[in-house]
Amino acid sequence: MAFGSSWKSVVCKASTGYQRVAILVPFRNRHEHLPILFRHLVPVLQRQRLQFAFYVIEQRGTEPFNRAMLFNVGYKEAMKDLDWDCLVFHDVDHLLENDRNYYGCTDMPRHFAVKLNKYSYMLPYNEFFGGVSGLTVEQFKKINGFPNAFWGWGGEDDDLWNRVRLANYTVSRPHGEQGRYMSIPHHHRGEVQFLGRYTLLRHSKERQSLDGLNNLNYSPLVSRRPLYTNVSVILNRNLAPIADY
Ligand code: UDP
Ligand code: MN
Repeated sequence: MAFGSSWKSVVCKASTGYQRVAILVPFRNRHEHLPILFRHLVPVLQRQRLQFAFYVIEQRGTEPFNRAMLFNVGYKEAMKDLDWDCLVFHDVDHLLENDRNYYGCTDMPRHFAVKLNKYSYMLPYNEFFGGVSGLTVEQFKKINGFPNAFWGWGGEDDDLWNRVRLANYTVSRPHGEQGRYMSIPHHHRGEVQFLGRYTLLRHSKERQSLDGLNNLNYSPLVSRRPLYTNVSVILNRNLAPIADY
């Protein structure tokens, strides 16, 4: 194995159809959540016979949190390790309840976290794409990844939905009770809302080809930990050109 902290089931190696899944976790100042996520998810993924590794993409510095850009960074770094089939974009505080919620990719982009306890186990709105989602590498490249221009809380998951739909994909979801999740309760410690999100979301279509994987710029610090790879980055707002809407 060229890099640490990747799980590969012996059975998987023997079968032909197993998927290689990179689980990307955007992260800042939620240290208490990480061990809970790993303890919960690793055995499930092992039972699902996936080859998988975790990438925790940690934002340093003082800029507002940029979940979407962290996912773009995680994608680029993960692909340096292995030719992953599938990317799972995973909030650190989401715990699946049903281990039949299979964390592989499908022929359409997948939304895994359908029924959350904090939303009374109901989808908050049809276009909801937050929490945990998954795209094949091909799908992710085709939509130019996540937008980089969403600084602070909110909207980036809706923009991803728009990107997916604009590329003529439909979103698939686990059925019935399979999409149930608990989320670990937490406070928003001084995190800011992204007030510009509505303006950007009105221009998802024009922005899709201008902002994403193709204008991503960052310098990572990569360290291998026993259970995951940590990718630490200072995201610089000025490095990611923001279209003038
Ligand atoms: N996140 C983080 N630190 C922050 C803000 C967000 O690690 O300061 C990551 C974390 O993975 C979290 C995800 O981004 O689960 C989504 O943010 P948050 O949990 O604040 O969103 P909400 O619970 O309001 O949907
Ligand atoms: Mn949360």
